[in-house]
Amino acid sequence: QEQDQEDEEILTGVDNIIAVASGKGGVGKSTVAVNLACGLARTGAKVGLLDTDIYGPSIPTMMDAHGRPNITTEKQLIPKEKYGIRFLSMGMLVDPDQAMIWRGPMVTSAVKQFMNEVEWGELDYLVLDLPPGTGDIQLTLVQTVPLTGAVIVSTPQNVALDDARKGVAMFKKVNVPVLGMVENMAYFIPEDQPDKKYHIFGKHGARNLAEQMGTNFLGEIPLEQKVRESSDEGKPIVLGDMETKSGEAFVELSNNV
Ligand code: ADP
Repeated sequence: QEQDQEDEEILTGVDNIIAVASGKGGVGKSTVAVNLACGLARTGAKVGLLDTDIYGPSIPTMMDAHGRPNITTEKQLIPKEKYGIRFLSMGMLVDPDQAMIWRGPMVTSAVKQFMNEVEWGELDYLVLDLPPGTGDIQLTLVQTVPLTGAVIVSTPQNVALDDARKGVAMFKKVNVPVLGMVENMAYFIPEDQPDKKYHIFGKHGARNLAEQMGTNFLGEIPLEQKVRESSDEGKPIVLGDMETKSGEAFVELSNNV
């Protein structure tokens, strides 16, 4: 309870903390976190993004912002600012080799520091990109941070869905509302054959799982080369090429959350 009070006191400027989680790695969790944060900012909201994935931080690349954050004279970290959002990645301060041996409580205390000792200012949303999985680290983390809700990302493939199911269960266990599921890499339409639609990783897997588990379905994002390219270039697709299906899908997703 003491901890709750401490968190509340320090995070008074932040209205909603939303965790983006996935059971499995590589399903597009960070891509969704970045595009959700930028998508929310597009609507005029004040948004922060914190990459807590110390094992494989992707936000610096996806936002094309590298290097260490500045520090105020009061020893508060100053988030980077770009595309209308404030963001920080634990990867900006943590040595990836050292991170390999971190345990749950260490990650949790580092995350707390990243929430409390950072000049986030007034925010409508703070989006957290969680490390993939549902192990000790994730459980400790979601128990400690005062989360408003969680968004769970999965591909439609069975191996991903099995882990996504565990993710939903984990949040239910710690009484964090699951805001819904996102189906990433839901289908592929070849550019030169726009009337064809391939369900490479299976059809409607995450949509069906959401229904089974009684959670919302927040939308499907197609597998598109431009998503990968925009990630690598550090220009989130939700802000750029709105002609793409994925750009539109991320706008819709941000409206649904
Ligand atoms: P995770 O955070 O789950 O490990 P990432 O967001 O890092 O996954 O995505 C893994 C890779 O897949 C990245 O290179 C990313 O650009 C790419 N990717 C993610 N979603 C899509 C998509 N819808 N279409 C094409 N590439 C994607």
